[in-house]
Amino acid sequence: MISVEEAKNLVLTGVFKQQKVLVNIQSALNFFLADDIIAGFSVPLFNQSAMDGYAFKFQDVNKSLNIVDEVAAGDVRVVKIKQGEAIRIFTGSKVPDSCDTVVMQELTEIINNQLIVKDDGLKSGGNIRKKGYQLKKGDVALKKGTLITPAAIGFMATLGIQEVNVYELPKVYIIATGSELMPLGSKLKEGQIFESNTHMLCSALEKLAIQPIIYTVKDNQQETEQLIKEALTKGDLLILSGGISVGDYDFVKESLVKNQVKEVFYKIKQKPGKPLFYGQKGEKNIFALPGNPAAALNCFYMYVYPAIQLMLGASEPFLPMIKLPLENKFVKKEGRSHFLKAKLWGNTVKLLEGQDSDALQSFALANALVYIPAEKITIEQHELVDVYLLPN
Ligand code: AMP
Ligand code: MG
Repeated sequence: MISVEEAKNLVLTGVFKQQKVLVNIQSALNFFLADDIIAGFSVPLFNQSAMDGYAFKFQDVNKSLNIVDEVAAGDVRVVKIKQGEAIRIFTGSKVPDSCDTVVMQELTEIINNQLIVKDDGLKSGGNIRKKGYQLKKGDVALKKGTLITPAAIGFMATLGIQEVNVYELPKVYIIATGSELMPLGSKLKEGQIFESNTHMLCSALEKLAIQPIIYTVKDNQQETEQLIKEALTKGDLLILSGGISVGDYDFVKESLVKNQVKEVFYKIKQKPGKPLFYGQKGEKNIFALPGNPAAALNCFYMYVYPAIQLMLGASEPFLPMIKLPLENKFVKKEGRSHFLKAKLWGNTVKLLEGQDSDALQSFALANALVYIPAEKITIEQHELVDVYLLPN
């Protein structure tokens, strides 16, 4: 059995990236940059006025100045002024090279087309966005691995970039195992339950814009083996649910071995989700999650979600983590790390009732998972803990 840290590290170092694909920036939202974005020109590209006002030579600040021209935004003429002159200018307009300062119009007075500057705080270069102050040509504008947000798309557009390389979405297969599982809408007989894990995992994947292909199978070795074979032929990532423990009807491990899946790890010193399996076949990743729903989702967020982020080229694949004081004291046994369903509570975090690995109600109410390391036994009230923020 390995520790949570070892398991995370094996995911971090083990996962292969998807194929690169060139996409229009408008289709790149929520992907990660596969290459650095280099500024092809300086930003801003020319000296720009930051205000509606007047441009002039700072040495003339105390004179009354002749307003000789006007430069609107988008005006590309080369305009020159002499000493004692000023021009009307607007936000985003090109500031002529012969001007070094802009005064905002609210701090001026115009008498007979003569400008009087009434800004005591104005300095030479004031209210001008200097060419290249944000970026110089050749600078790295955004690093590879950066999440492409609306802001990143806007930023790339300012750089004139129309297409970017990202990594393709993985084709994901889910196989849920268990003879007791019945589809929604069935009339349950005693001993049967509704199959819920595929609905849950499918929604978690939808958040990542992935639409998985879903199979369910009874506890049957041959059928499980056959479905795994199919999924590994067609998919990039296979997620199994259930059948990975040591019961007589747990056939997943054997079926993976028969499919030449190489084990990276099996079993983690954690609660919930001890019997998590991670393996690879070629460049394909296989996670076998425990069937207990809360354990399955916990393993998904802590290991499968980061694996997908890595396949997509993310530089920060794990859920965001912050440190907060714990609202309620918690005591556990030594030896296994705990992930606890929790809710952010003002500036603290509160553990929810119902931490069993089959109990989804607390997970449904949680927006965070509190991580308690294996060696810890008691966490006092208000002690700082690691808090992983769950996606909505
Ligand atoms: P297993 O990991 O197969 O031993 O299953 C552990 C527990 O999780 C059992 O109580 C199963 O009935 C339950 N379980 C397994 N798979 C699912 C599923 N897909 N949906 C809901 N519950 C499940
Ligand atoms: Mg089972």
